[in-house]
Amino acid sequence: MADTRQVIILGSGTAGLTAAIYAARANLSPLLFEGAHPGGQLTITTDVENYPGFEEAILGPDLMKRMRAQAARFGTELITAPAESVNLKASPFEVASHGKTYRSRALIIATGAVAKLLGISSEAKLMGHGVSACATCDGYFFRNQRVLVVGGGDTAMEEANFLTKFASHVTVIHRRDELRASKIMQERAIANPKISFLWDSIVEEVLDSGEGKVTGVKVQNLKTGHTTVVPAEGLFIGIGHQPNTALFEGQLELDPNGYIRTFGGTRTSVPGVFAGGDVQDSVYRQAVTAAGTGCMAALDAERYLEELKHASNTPSPAAATAGGTKRA
Ligand code: NDP
Repeated sequence: MADTRQVIILGSGTAGLTAAIYAARANLSPLLFEGAHPGGQLTITTDVENYPGFEEAILGPDLMKRMRAQAARFGTELITAPAESVNLKASPFEVASHGKTYRSRALIIATGAVAKLLGISSEAKLMGHGVSACATCDGYFFRNQRVLVVGGGDTAMEEANFLTKFASHVTVIHRRDELRASKIMQERAIANPKISFLWDSIVEEVLDSGEGKVTGVKVQNLKTGHTTVVPAEGLFIGIGHQPNTALFEGQLELDPNGYIRTFGGTRTSVPGVFAGGDVQDSVYRQAVTAAGTGCMAALDAERYLEELKHASNTPSPAAATAGGTKRA
C-alpha cells in the first residue's frame, strides 16, 4: 500500500517525542500525532529540576519545545491533532484524524495519563503556583513550608511521606474517615510525626487566586458542614491518575486501572503495537522514565519491522519448491 507508514506515534509528551527521535534516526520516517495537549504533562509544570542534563533547571514547556524541535530535525512528521479512532484489527493498523485515515505497520502509543484534579477554578488558576499533582517533581520547592495533600489512596500516602523530606508539616485532607491506601502505606503515614490528617473534609477553594500563590485552603467538614481555612503554602492533589486509553478499549489488553498492559519491554497484547510512557506506567510516572520507555518502544518497533521484512522476504516452502521467491 503506497501510503502505508512504517510507524505512527500517538502522543507528544516525553515518551512520544523520544520514540520519534529514535524512530526518525532509524530512518523509519515516523508520523506523530501530537494529541489534544501537545507536549503533555510537562507543559503544565514550571521548573523541571530532575531531568538529567539541566543543572540549573528548565521550564517544562521549554523542555518540550526542545524535544519537539529535536524530533522534527531528524525528520519526524508532526500532526497537531489527536487521533480520533484507531483500528488495531486492520493490517496495516489504521488511525483516523480529521476525516483522513492513516495506515502504519507499527504503532507506538504514548498518549500518557492525566492526574485527576478536584475541578475547582481556584485549583486551575494556581496550578504551578503552589498547586501541584506531583510531589516528586515539585516537593523540593516547599522546603520548611506547610503543605496539604488531598486524597486517601496510595498516591496520597506516598506523596505525603515524600513531602515530609522537605515540608515543615504535611496535612492530608481526605473526604472520608477511612483511608483507601494499602495497610503498609497507611501505617507509614500515620506513624510519621510530620503528617496529620483532616478527615471527612473536602477542599472548597484554594486561596488565594488574587495573590497568585497558595496561602491556604477553605475546607468543608462533610459531617458537620463547617467550613474552616487551613493555612499552607502548597497543595498537592493525590487523588489518582487517568491513563488516556479510551481509544484502545476493547482492542488492547488493559489492567484494572485502565493502563495498557505490556509484556517484556513495550510489547502490548497486539503484535506491532507498542506502548511507552505513563499510558503503561502507574508506578514511576516520571519524565525521564517516560523518555526511557519511549526509546524502548521505538527500538522494539524497529525490531518488529525488521522481522516483518525478513518474514515477507523468506520464501514459503511451497514457493521454494516451485523454484520462485515471492516478495510482498
Ligand atoms: P485510588 O483510586 O486508589 O485513590 C484515590 C483517592 O483519592 C481515594 O482515597 C479517593 O477517595 C480520593 N478521591 C478521588 N476523587 C476525589 C475527589 N474528587 N475529591 C477528593 N478525594 C478524591 O488512586 P491512587 O492513585 O491512590 O492509586 C491507584 C492505584 O495505584 C492503586 O492500585 C494503588 O495501590 C496504586 N499505587 C501504588 C503505589 C505504590 O505501591 N507505591 C503508589 C501509588 C499508587 P475515596 O477513598 O473516598 O474514594
